[in-house]
Amino acid sequence: MSSQTDYPLIFERSQPGRRGVSLPASDVPRKRVADLLPSQALRDKPPALPEVSEVDVIRHYTGLSRRNHGVDNGFYPLGSCTMKYNPKINEDMASLPGFTGLHPYTPEELSQGALKLMYELEQYLSEIAGVARTTLQPAAGAHGELTGMLIVKAYHRHKGQDRRQVIVPDSAHGTNPASAAMCGFDVVTVKSDATGGVDLEELRRLVGPNTAALMLTNPSTLGLFEKNIAEIARIVHDAGGLLYYDGANANAICGISRPGDMGFDIVHFNLHKTFSTPHGGGGPGAGSVGVSADLVPFLPRPLISFDGNRYGLDYSGPLSIGRVRTFYANFGVLVKAYTYIRMLGPDGLVRMSKDAVLNANYVMNGLRPYYHIPYPGLCQHEFVASAVQQKKHGVRALDVAKRLLDFGTHPPTIYFPLIVEEALMIEPTETESKETLDRFISVMAEIAREAELEPEKVQNAPYTTPVGRLDETRAARHPDLAWRSVRKEEDG
Ligand SMILES: *Cc1c(COP(=O)(O)O)cnc(C)c1O
Repeated sequence: MSSQTDYPLIFERSQPGRRGVSLPASDVPRKRVADLLPSQALRDKPPALPEVSEVDVIRHYTGLSRRNHGVDNGFYPLGSCTMKYNPKINEDMASLPGFTGLHPYTPEELSQGALKLMYELEQYLSEIAGVARTTLQPAAGAHGELTGMLIVKAYHRHKGQDRRQVIVPDSAHGTNPASAAMCGFDVVTVKSDATGGVDLEELRRLVGPNTAALMLTNPSTLGLFEKNIAEIARIVHDAGGLLYYDGANANAICGISRPGDMGFDIVHFNLHKTFSTPHGGGGPGAGSVGVSADLVPFLPRPLISFDGNRYGLDYSGPLSIGRVRTFYANFGVLVKAYTYIRMLGPDGLVRMSKDAVLNANYVMNGLRPYYHIPYPGLCQHEFVASAVQQKKHGVRALDVAKRLLDFGTHPPTIYFPLIVEEALMIEPTETESKETLDRFISVMAEIAREAELEPEKVQNAPYTTPVGRLDETRAARHPDLAWRSVRKEEDG
């Protein structure tokens, strides 16, 4: 076993009687816990807690954190996820005691600052999206989609129509069909054409009186702007359907084009992607949902109100789909998004998107000699490469991704979108320097060279990580968090 695996559990660091704190002697009379608590609240045995000193705890968790890859310690080009660097001032603002200590049931007159922040954030997001109003409640992009689909349903019901179909392109993120299905819609797939856009002929065939909505990501998961969006909007609207915008890729368009102007009726943003909050590993996030004027009555309540003098929570709205989350959202994420938008300002947001697009095009062109680029031409903030050339030598997208770990880089998204064979979906983000991008290109070139000359080296990677290749299905279903034993199994 290598020294890397020699990492004790916190329980194995435990020494009887060792403590992280020392308390002064008690100056009040001692009482037995049994005299203070009802018997059913008492344990039979003391809890099995590790007995460790402060330095033991700090070294243990700091050591563990260094085994993870995060955006603070390296490049993280995970396509579609927008793993940009998150400015630390966001954290400072979200940690202000006035925010962290605010109880959700604090009366409105005592939480004017938080309400004002939410009100202004709603206005910024509505302006960026080109919509009338926005709810901040949903806790993730997928939750925003669910909210949007509930609004679609409520809208058609209100018009006395029971439309059953939601159309989703074959390049869509899996949450799109899942959200539509969760709301009881039948999901219909529309194919992409040779240029990666929606196949208009097929769309015309599919759209009809049963069409409730089309869900679209623009730029798409191929990193391509949908040039026919005006025509697509016309086709769907003429049939009485609604247009839903999956805004996970909004990093490419802030201040440049607005989903509302493209014809979208419902727009979600992943605040934890475009508007900078550390994410991954399950949250927390925020998936704001904006809607055109016609759909405002259906938005979740409460909405934040302002009468020119006082901010409040407006619960009125008989057509509202109701609340979609407890209290008012992942408030800390809202503070970070607000801070981020205010720090950049309107011009800064435009520059952010332009730099994201520039960086993606730079990397795409740098990789062109080594990897197949199925949709050449200009990309938006991300692009899809393919490992089909490497596959001839037995090296697949998964192997390239694993080998990247040895170079201290997080792999790109792989095998998504589904319509590209051996897909490597790369999103550098605007926050990376030219040196970082150049290094990534040279590492990818090196891996392409290895794939040709010594493919087994790539096939068996990684070599420098605490664990090697895992059975990923088993690891997800039966996580063995004492990962030392994983290495033992591999060794044995
Ligand atoms: C990330 C993503 C989603 C889902 O967003 P979550 O915040 O992870 O729930 C939906 N669509 C696309 C294209 C995405 O990249």
